[in-house]
Amino acid sequence: MIIVLRAHATEEEIAQVCRRIEDLGLTPHLSRGVERTIIGAIGDERILLDKGIEALPMVEKVLPVLKPYKLASRDFHPDNTVVTVGGVRVGDRRLAVVAGPCSVESREMLLSVARDVQAAGAHLLRGGAFKPRTSPYAFQGLGEEALRYLAEARRETGMPVVTELMDPREAMLVLKYADMVQVGARNMQNFRLLKELGMQKTPVLLKRGMSSTIRELLMSAEYILSEGNYNVILCERGIRTFEDATRNTLDLSAIPVLKQLTHLPVLVDPSHGTGKWDLVAPMTLAAVAAGADGVMVEVHPRPEEALSDGPQALLPSRFQRMMDDLKRVAEAVGRTL
Ligand code: PEP
Ligand code: MN
Repeated sequence: MIIVLRAHATEEEIAQVCRRIEDLGLTPHLSRGVERTIIGAIGDERILLDKGIEALPMVEKVLPVLKPYKLASRDFHPDNTVVTVGGVRVGDRRLAVVAGPCSVESREMLLSVARDVQAAGAHLLRGGAFKPRTSPYAFQGLGEEALRYLAEARRETGMPVVTELMDPREAMLVLKYADMVQVGARNMQNFRLLKELGMQKTPVLLKRGMSSTIRELLMSAEYILSEGNYNVILCERGIRTFEDATRNTLDLSAIPVLKQLTHLPVLVDPSHGTGKWDLVAPMTLAAVAAGADGVMVEVHPRPEEALSDGPQALLPSRFQRMMDDLKRVAEAVGRTL
């Protein structure tokens, strides 16, 4: 249920409504807009109607949220949400570009990619420390060693870092280093992991599961939001279809659909979305033209030697060229880079 307060409701009045919601055994979640404050009441909604909260003088109206996701819904938060990741604003007019290797393979390799992508204009550095690999015999990531290299790269370049967390048992370790924690496609419905991250304040990059609907993605976001962490960024990264010309089918229509349904920022990952480096730049441009708030791309100095995802990695020089082209598309759709 959402409770829309009258314009210019005072802090005391807002607190009063929240207390009333709590007394009824529900949890209030505040959304402060430019014009008005909206309170989401999560729990058994029938209680609210019974108890006549609508009769309170500072309440304008009480509306049911018909969608199964509540806090993720635009009904609850009509304005776009901007999530700040280590000082970088994601979801604002300026696009956010996350770049870096699939896996952190060594200190030298990470530092070299970090310098290159920063020089080309990336805002955030990515790099996997714990890798979800199809084969248990494939490179699994350097673990904490990789996290230390990420921290060093952040110190040197100033770029905040994004890395994947796969297991709630490693949450405290990863949170010690990461400016944003990535939940990978394979873990989008690891509800234990989502709840754990919901209890933190660190921003979460939630990737769409490879066989998940948009509604399921939003329900997973709801798990994080409902625990109190509102710093959630969604990521379209391609879904499984019958098409085998690409690794996945990048669902570009998910971008405007998500923009209608939710206030959360939306990034697109054309690297995993296509699996081919020469498709990364065109799909990046298309994603931004379709309304994405930014992209996440994999970059490697020697893709042919990469320990994971080499075929989809951009060379730094190609990343630079892509950024030049992206600047023009950004301008055309009223954004900056
Ligand atoms: C990744 O970003 O390296 C990754 C494993 O992505 P996904 O979870 O989308 O497959
Ligand atoms: Mn990868």
